[in-house]
Amino acid sequence: MSTRSTPAPTSETWRPGVKDPLRFLAAYPDGVLDQVRQMVAANRLGEHLAKKYPARHTVQTDRALYDFTAELKQEFLRTAPPIHKVAFDAKIDVVHRALGLHTAISRVQGGKLKAKKEIRVASLFKEAPPEFLRMIVVHELAHLKESDHNKAFYRLCEYMEPAYHQLEFDTRLFLAWRELEPAQG
Ligand SMILES: [Zn+2]
Repeated sequence: MSTRSTPAPTSETWRPGVKDPLRFLAAYPDGVLDQVRQMVAANRLGEHLAKKYPARHTVQTDRALYDFTAELKQEFLRTAPPIHKVAFDAKIDVVHRALGLHTAISRVQGGKLKAKKEIRVASLFKEAPPEFLRMIVVHELAHLKESDHNKAFYRLCEYMEPAYHQLEFDTRLFLAWRELEPAQG
């Protein structure tokens, strides 16, 4: 399944309203959603993902996640503001914030207002394919420079990860699959 001609979702906080696992894909066109529905109906979603993304990664601690993130930042976004904290977060509401959380906490330090950059990644990505972890981190790193999901934002994402759009789509498929088959997710 290719999403080459599919525009990326413009919002990661849309209101699903229902418990449909496919709400993660709600921003994609009907034709794409139909393909997904067919795959779900045929019970082929898990197989599709396992075949395409057989690997797992070893980034299991906040420290490892920090190093992983710092490495990507060093390679692609050297001039972006420094990150102060990177952590897995079990409390991120996957329903609304599937793609992690980037925060800039402003606080007064020595008379100056300083923004602290934090990146939080939902803990479920410890068990996700490495490609999906990379996609999430790329997404959050891009937010260091662009707070909105605009064209410049997605250009940055693609600069860091050329397959960004396909990976975001497949990550959303993965999230849907975890809900459809929680025992295997
Ligand atoms: Zn975002």
